[in-house]
Amino acid sequence: MAKYVYDFTEGNRNLKDLLGGKGANLAEMTNLGLPVPPGFTITTEACRHYLSAGSVPDGLDREVAGHLAALESRMGRKLGQADDPLLVSVRSGAKFSMPGMMETVLNIGLNDESVHGLAKQAGGNDRFAWDSYRRLIQMFGKTVLGIDGDLFEDALDALKGRRPDTGLDAGELQRLVETYKGIVREQTGREFPTDPREQMRLAVMAVFDSWNAPRAILYRRQERIPADLGTAVNIMAMVFGNYGDDSGTGVAFTRDPGSGRQGIYGDYLQNAQGEDVVAGIRNTIPLEDLERIDPPSYDQLVSIMETLENHYRDLCDIEFTIERGTLWMLQTRVGKRTAAAAFRIATQLVDQGLITMDEAVTRVTGDQLAQLMFPRFDHGAEKKKIARGMNASPGAAVGKVVFSSERAVELAGRGEDVILVRRETNPDDLAGMIAARGILTSRGGKTSHAAVVARGMGKTCVCGAEELEVLTAERRFSAPGGVVVSEGDVISIDGTTGEVFLGEVPVVDSAVVEYFEGAEPDDELVKAVDRVMRHADGARRLGVRANADTPEDAARARRFGAQGIGLCRTEHMFLGERRRLVEELVLATTDEERQVALDALEPLQKADFVGIFQAMNGHPVTIRLIDPPLHEFLPDLVDLSVKAATHEATGKDRRLLAAVKRLHEQNPMLGLRGVRLGLVIPGLFAMQVRAIAQAAAEVPGARPEIMIPLVAAVQELESVREEAVQILAEEGVAALIGTMIEVPRAALTAAQIAEAAEFFSFGTNDLTQMVWGFSRDDVESAFFSRYLDLGIFGVSPFETLDREGVGRLIEIAVAEGRSARPDLHLGICGEHGGDPDSVHFCHEAGLDYVSCSPFRIPVARLEAGRAALSRTDSDTR
Ligand code: ADP
Ligand code: MG
Ligand code: MG
Repeated sequence: MAKYVYDFTEGNRNLKDLLGGKGANLAEMTNLGLPVPPGFTITTEACRHYLSAGSVPDGLDREVAGHLAALESRMGRKLGQADDPLLVSVRSGAKFSMPGMMETVLNIGLNDESVHGLAKQAGGNDRFAWDSYRRLIQMFGKTVLGIDGDLFEDALDALKGRRPDTGLDAGELQRLVETYKGIVREQTGREFPTDPREQMRLAVMAVFDSWNAPRAILYRRQERIPADLGTAVNIMAMVFGNYGDDSGTGVAFTRDPGSGRQGIYGDYLQNAQGEDVVAGIRNTIPLEDLERIDPPSYDQLVSIMETLENHYRDLCDIEFTIERGTLWMLQTRVGKRTAAAAFRIATQLVDQGLITMDEAVTRVTGDQLAQLMFPRFDHGAEKKKIARGMNASPGAAVGKVVFSSERAVELAGRGEDVILVRRETNPDDLAGMIAARGILTSRGGKTSHAAVVARGMGKTCVCGAEELEVLTAERRFSAPGGVVVSEGDVISIDGTTGEVFLGEVPVVDSAVVEYFEGAEPDDELVKAVDRVMRHADGARRLGVRANADTPEDAARARRFGAQGIGLCRTEHMFLGERRRLVEELVLATTDEERQVALDALEPLQKADFVGIFQAMNGHPVTIRLIDPPLHEFLPDLVDLSVKAATHEATGKDRRLLAAVKRLHEQNPMLGLRGVRLGLVIPGLFAMQVRAIAQAAAEVPGARPEIMIPLVAAVQELESVREEAVQILAEEGVAALIGTMIEVPRAALTAAQIAEAAEFFSFGTNDLTQMVWGFSRDDVESAFFSRYLDLGIFGVSPFETLDREGVGRLIEIAVAEGRSARPDLHLGICGEHGGDPDSVHFCHEAGLDYVSCSPFRIPVARLEAGRAALSRTDSDTR
């Protein structure tokens, strides 16, 4: 029979799929002998069953009852027992952390009777008991009963006035409980449920349901977390940080998640319960101050943090509560960190002897490296600093100020850069945070919602800029010195230093880009990047080439570590001045006229190739013969029609118009392009091949590879190849001749095609279009978001290679191609070549290299190294 419930003593950290991250790590801490309140976890499997069947699986209720009974006997109290109640929390916890996205309910088991029992348990602390009760109704009301949380907040605010919540006495809290119960009655037409078991059962289902809350769906999509995992539910005995000043609750990191530096790092709040710290209801104090308030608990916490770091061999973040001098651990996980911290921490852990260099490479990601390559503010530029907050998530962001998530989404939708400014953010701000360039808050520390979520998304964030007064309703904020910034004004925020500037500050290359450009690694971060990159390069099997069409791009690609060019497009060689020659080519009515145009183009192309061969200095250059339909180079139909109707129109205009009409295609993507052009327009490919050959003859060491696009049948390739071989022989130049594999038929007949090709390069942009039957430009904006919502794919197949469909074709082509020609050279040149997950696929599929845009080359190098070093998983998150 299926087992749906695990006691904390039964699980461990490797069971994240089943127990969720929170449950697996609570079990791990329990087994390490750390002080964790006892409890148990309902599996994600039960959640998945509930979400698909609409009811909990058979036997779950019985299993939960059994575990609850065991918990009760261990604690010596029964759930909600009137004179001496056991209280529990019901907490969500998915495989991947989704901070604040799902639900948790604390203090379950309280009602009008047990609230007195709780007070008695606490030695007559009535205030504490009523505070816990009002928290239960508030959280339960909002998350389980779906009541607007503001109704409770407003009632609380009205009662406390300018006092902090700790200023309320027992009588006032008791009155608040009555008010809250009234809100529940009014909003739901029913009484607040007083049966403890009913409370627990409803809370469990609410946690299950929260998996599909809109903000959770949005977060998963943003973070590419699969939609079908479900969440586990953790039920654990409550411990109380809201007894009084000898109690409290906090969050901490074992290292600075921003810089990676080791140390005590976190926020603490006296006389408070869990949520209060991140919600920013009162100002927290730095964790160091706990040393003064409660030295024994502090020392114990520091030593536990050390234990956790050594055990997980990584940065951990933790949640803890102190109940009257006793420390309890409530959560830990390997913590999110900034990109810079990821590189620093990885190499620090190597130096501490905790991990190997191989592991260090797998601890950082290509996405993190890409973030470090974003520009930063120019230190030399003149700028007007108006405030400073905490450097919560690095980067340089410039944009118009907005004060609400809706407005951020609206302006960003019009292509504007915006900075979302809030007092503090909450999970409902997620859409605005995604839309914004950067996030600025006036309250909350580095563990606040804004900071944690921004770091997770790699978005620039400055938080807790307390000098700012944010007036959300009036859509403005004020800064010291009489500065007032209104919606629409431009500011610049530096997530690396925490500074806020008025107006636009210019940006410059990041130090990491300067390093890739050849600068000596001088600062600690760049040195860490350098060490990781060297190790990744030493480990990887995949070569990395660049998609580069100009000598400048080629030179940059070389500096960034490209081992050749995998795709040099030749279509730009027909643009600008040269359009006139294309027009003549199209208008030619005789072979002689056509040859005149081609002869004029040849030396121009040759010069282009010379520049590229020189820049690549003996490394291979794969040149793709012209690919787009020729009408793309001709004037626009409408413009021409207008012109042809006037009396200024020349004979050529009229002939051009006729040609444009003749060449018009219903579906150009599937029309006269690629190899088809070469076969239909005599001399076109020959001209290009000759230009390549002559350029190669001029540049010592040049290694041209001639690539024929859009081949579907070996016969196409054979006839082009024959002509090319002859020209190469005439010019006395050696070059490989190969083809793109971008039409499904080519992949399916790879064995035949390999007879005529010395290399294959998978053109995965076209291949994806044709395999899915998607016209990329049309479908992406039209309905991809719907497809993502429906879970038809978790990420666009144009972004990350679709392993099941496109990937399978590639595997077929690799196997058949190599069987026909064992030394067949294989690469990929679509945009997927720079996408982390796709690079891992290419490694697994046994390709020889990936080719990507120059800026993605370091990312591809790193991911190729990670692919070679990670044993099994294709999880590049
Ligand atoms: P999230 O995933 O949003 O952080 P959690 O499940 O961790 O939600 O719970 C929210 C807060 O409640 C946290 O600060 C947590 O430490 C606290 N909390 C959860 N369970 C208990 C408990 N049994 N006793 C005391 N505090 C708890
Ligand atoms: Mg938590
Ligand atoms: Mg193509």
